[in-house]
Amino acid sequence: MGVHTILWEGHFTPEDKARSDYAYIPLDLPAPAQRLTVRYTYADAARAEGGNAGPPSSVVDIGLFDPRGTAFPEGPGFRGWSGSARREFTVGVETATPGYLPGPLPPGRYHVILGLYRIHPAGVDVRIQVTVEPAAGDGAGRSCREAWVSAAPLDYTKSPAQSPGQWLRGDLHTHTWHSDAEAPPAQLLQEAQALGLHFLAVTDHNTVSHHRELAQLAHQGLVLIPGQEVTTYYGHMNVWGAARWCDFRCRTPQEMAQVIAQAHQAGGLCSLNHPKPGGPPWEYGFHLPVDAMEVWHTPWPFGNPQILATWDQLLGQGRRLPGVGGSDYHCRLPSYAGIRHLAMPTTWVWTADPTPQGILAAIRQGRVCISAGPTGPRLELEATTPTGPVPMGGTVPQAPGRLPLTVRVLAGVGFELRLVADGEVVFRHPITREGETVRPIVPVRRYVRAELVGEMPARLLPKGAPPDLDRRAWRWALSNPIYLAGT
Ligand SMILES: [Zn+2]
Ligand SMILES: [Zn+2]
Repeated sequence: MGVHTILWEGHFTPEDKARSDYAYIPLDLPAPAQRLTVRYTYADAARAEGGNAGPPSSVVDIGLFDPRGTAFPEGPGFRGWSGSARREFTVGVETATPGYLPGPLPPGRYHVILGLYRIHPAGVDVRIQVTVEPAAGDGAGRSCREAWVSAAPLDYTKSPAQSPGQWLRGDLHTHTWHSDAEAPPAQLLQEAQALGLHFLAVTDHNTVSHHRELAQLAHQGLVLIPGQEVTTYYGHMNVWGAARWCDFRCRTPQEMAQVIAQAHQAGGLCSLNHPKPGGPPWEYGFHLPVDAMEVWHTPWPFGNPQILATWDQLLGQGRRLPGVGGSDYHCRLPSYAGIRHLAMPTTWVWTADPTPQGILAAIRQGRVCISAGPTGPRLELEATTPTGPVPMGGTVPQAPGRLPLTVRVLAGVGFELRLVADGEVVFRHPITREGETVRPIVPVRRYVRAELVGEMPARLLPKGAPPDLDRRAWRWALSNPIYLAGT
């Protein structure tokens, strides 16, 4: 059979979504293929009759599984996902559209997966057209197992950033055209280097198709952390350093727990993303065993006070949860005029091992502080104990009581240093000198953390920010907590 096209048409209703967020459209290949091209369109049934008033229109996402199957949470046949960012994609033996994994296309039953993200009350009509180009040569018949292995992540550690035992700065949450951003990884890396970042996690939505490209770019003097943003319809989670794709088809906390276990088994670290109204929020609850939480997402005033309140609440309950920042920068064409900018905020980690593994280990330990941008300001917090200093993320072996602290503030002149213990501000101090070191003794029951607070100077207004933004009480830097052992 030569090049041929298969058509599928269907209709989905809110009742379909209530039953399942995902629909699997089977596609049978009787012989090996060289390339599959999938195009799809969708339109709300009501909208076809005219008029834009009423409920928001439908959003239908798309992806592909090969004959190895769709089983949750392994997804052995996962070949890619593009959400609703593309109406067309190609998966070939040698190449694929960003977001999709190239490799053999043996005969068998494939599935186009449709994600019923939002369905108009009147339903949505979906039309899928798949063009199959038959295999030309011998190579197309290679086994799928071989494709999976050869698509596995390679070596990302070619180029340590700098000498050991230093603060390294980077961004833990970014996107390229492997999901819904406009530019390739190479451009993102260039922008990161121009800002002087030492590490960069690329966390495209629900795919790992960027990992191979990152491995090839790893010689460019930046520690690259292969990531993915597990993007479910009920919350997002970054997974860094996992050696495989992690499933996103979750609906319940139990299913999300399975994905977290899967990520941990693959050596990954899980960080709960932007748990704030419009984040989109995190609806699985905070009891799941994630390793970190994105406590600062995009420039400060956009929902971050709510996240900080949630973090304080969890810490107050005795949870030890490292906080990180993430810009959620979607690498853009030069015409971009939005509010999300690379390294706003910037996450700093203290490590003696400037590799992805070393950086992730430091995050797991909470040796982390967050700054509004790559030039700071920055905070270092340390507790003084009879047995020596305890750094951020560490535990002081003492019962609730007064705790001597050392706080060093860099590039923080003009801001107010605050110490927050158990959800209450217990110390305030205006910073007047560069590199100022402050040594307060404060009452602590479970945890204490530091922050720099101040009105936003107009010159620092992020590009693209609305002019009527509330400039009061922005956080400019956040430390991680120091914990007390006995409560
Ligand atoms: Zn997200
Ligand atoms: Zn994101």
